[in-house]
Amino acid sequence: MKRKFITALILIPLIAVAAFVAFGNGDILENLTAVETPQPEIDVIVELEPEPPAEKNPPEEPIIEIDDASDEIPNEYAESDVLETENDDNDDDSEELLPDESEALPLPEINYPMWQTVRSGIDPYRPMIALTFDDGPSIHTIPILDALEFHGGLATFFVLGTLLESHRDIAQRIHMQGNEIANHTWSHQRLTDLSESDMHFEIYNASVAIAEITGFAPASLRPTYGAHNEAVMRVAENLNLPLVLWSLDTRDWYTRDADMIFDAVMDNVQDRDIIIMHDIREPTAEAAMRLIPALIEQGFQLVTVSELFYHSGVTPTPGRIYNFGGGRR
Ligand SMILES: [Zn+2]
Repeated sequence: MKRKFITALILIPLIAVAAFVAFGNGDILENLTAVETPQPEIDVIVELEPEPPAEKNPPEEPIIEIDDASDEIPNEYAESDVLETENDDNDDDSEELLPDESEALPLPEINYPMWQTVRSGIDPYRPMIALTFDDGPSIHTIPILDALEFHGGLATFFVLGTLLESHRDIAQRIHMQGNEIANHTWSHQRLTDLSESDMHFEIYNASVAIAEITGFAPASLRPTYGAHNEAVMRVAENLNLPLVLWSLDTRDWYTRDADMIFDAVMDNVQDRDIIIMHDIREPTAEAAMRLIPALIEQGFQLVTVSELFYHSGVTPTPGRIYNFGGGRR
């Protein structure tokens, strides 16, 4: 009996304590959940936190992934590797083939007709000049297009491939107005500083970008800075592009003054001139807006480079250099 009494004495408080603890815990749990439920903000913060590490990862991951499993290109890097993997497909044999310039570049042909505008209204016996604008398209191309449209003239725009996508509307307007869009390389690197395969890349990609927007392959290349050598001429020949330089330099890139640009043209212009300007600055656009009516008033027909050659009886040969309507002055 005593044992039962003692065990009861021990058990009852134990049970009571256990019950208290159990209820107590329940309260604590309830309290905890009660504290936790109004905490979706914390959940949100917890969800937000993993994202920044995803941004922090890229600088670290490439080192790991390239070392461990070069086959598995993470999505973020897949885009930048597309060109390399395409090239790899083309020349599986060995990496040593890459420096073998032209042989390593069996790029697809540009299957678009070449741009040739020849308006019937042009009189081949009257003076004509080709206004040319380099380095665009840009917002400053627009007033030049307005003036050409208003006064009835055409020009040639030697565009950069890199700018075409962001200025697609302007490029399309250049084309739709009947102006000529020609090649001024992809990213305006000095071609003579490049390997022949890089030259090819610069010129080819610009031609493709132009063809995709206009539906026509460009009819000529203006090498950046006018810089050319035998390699540039050889690559241009392979890409079916005559090299078009200029006979009248407005030096607009240097003076950046509308009056000086205007005078540079009006004081020096001759029949069959190819005039170089840059449609990337306001003074040039301002000068062009005044030049276009002034030149027409002086009797000059404003034609594209292709028209200038056509009406001058010149058939440009890919890879050869031309700097005025008569061919080479
Ligand atoms: Zn340029």
